[in-house]
Amino acid sequence: MATIRSLSAREILDSRGAPTIEIELQTAHGSGIASVPSGASVGAHEALELRDGDLSVYGGRGVSKAIAGVNEEIAEALLGKEFDQQSLDAFLSELDGTPNKSRLGANAILGVSIAFARAAATEGSMPLYAYLGSLDNRHSFTLPQPLFNILNGGKHAAHGIDIQESMLAPIGFETMREKVAVAMSCVGALSSLLKEKGYGTDMGDEGGFAPALTSNDEALDLLVAAIEQTGHTTEQIKLALDVAASSFYTEGKYVLKAGGERVMTRDEMLRWYSHTAQMYPVISIEDGFAEDDWDGFTALTKELSNQLLIVGDDLTVTNVGRIATAIEKKAANACIIKPNQIGSITEAIRAVQTARAAGWKIFASHRSGETMDTFIADFSVGLSCDYLKAGAPTKKERMVKYTRLMEIEEELHLV
Ligand code: PEP
Ligand code: MG
Repeated sequence: MATIRSLSAREILDSRGAPTIEIELQTAHGSGIASVPSGASVGAHEALELRDGDLSVYGGRGVSKAIAGVNEEIAEALLGKEFDQQSLDAFLSELDGTPNKSRLGANAILGVSIAFARAAATEGSMPLYAYLGSLDNRHSFTLPQPLFNILNGGKHAAHGIDIQESMLAPIGFETMREKVAVAMSCVGALSSLLKEKGYGTDMGDEGGFAPALTSNDEALDLLVAAIEQTGHTTEQIKLALDVAASSFYTEGKYVLKAGGERVMTRDEMLRWYSHTAQMYPVISIEDGFAEDDWDGFTALTKELSNQLLIVGDDLTVTNVGRIATAIEKKAANACIIKPNQIGSITEAIRAVQTARAAGWKIFASHRSGETMDTFIADFSVGLSCDYLKAGAPTKKERMVKYTRLMEIEEELHLV
């Protein structure tokens, strides 16, 4: 238990130059600071990120209401009171009083939840990952397999392909340092290949290249070629995809853009994924169908879950209820965990527990709009998540997450 002594919020800018919240919180014997990331391909069922909506300021993306909520109502309700993580998160949810945190904002509430976790960890003289692990009765830790998103498309790139994220999974390497080094050598190889073919090497939101390729398959061909050019094999470095299909789903159809418009039905999408699984060293497909296309997800899981991970993101939104439905419908065998989709640490941990109880794999994830906060790295270790998505190791706000994993790896004497 820790008594809250002070709480304040201020505006900072995220990696896209959009406003977000930074929170500072002091307890009797500790202190914590936290900032909150933000998505671009946001699931319709996520908790609500409170934005001002005043179009004359940052195109409506200001966060002054969320900040005022922390500095006034939330601070007034918390100061002088004693909490543990669960009672704090439950108290904030109740104070908000809506099912999706739309009154005070999931961004405001999650910021307070994380800042409190940091303060509580310092009170207990624990590293943050160990504190987060203790909330799940976990006292030994493993590092996640990092997934490096080196080719950006969809809503994360102006002229990119349809697949939002084409990621490298360097599974054949022991240490985080080696995995990062290998990912960076693939970035170099991919850069040369793109230049050779006359494509641009601009970056997308998560630090991967964002070329206007002629097809989605060309992206996978290029990644395989880049891997081979570094002298490694596709046994050592696998691919992971986030199709983010909600972003190109309209009126019951999937409208793909890469190399000219092509409208695909659910069955055609399914056939494309079977072909992809056969032709490429892919270990996972995230959001292969739109967020409410349960039949698409169930068909995909039936067809390919013996070969790959079928990952829910917009489908499951770190929400225990939606994860339970997906388990019941056999609509996935893995899910993304993004704490800001649900708005508190306690609820994100419950989502992990629910998914894990069904034997699912857990992918902790950053957002496309990030800050320098490394919370998600500690979360991924504390909960011993199977994978961590933190973008390409080319942009500072992504690299700090991988650097934090390297630090933890040393601290745990895993190297
Ligand atoms: C994702 O879809 O997995 C993702 C990280 O993107 P965003 O943060 O834009 O939702
Ligand atoms: Mg996703």
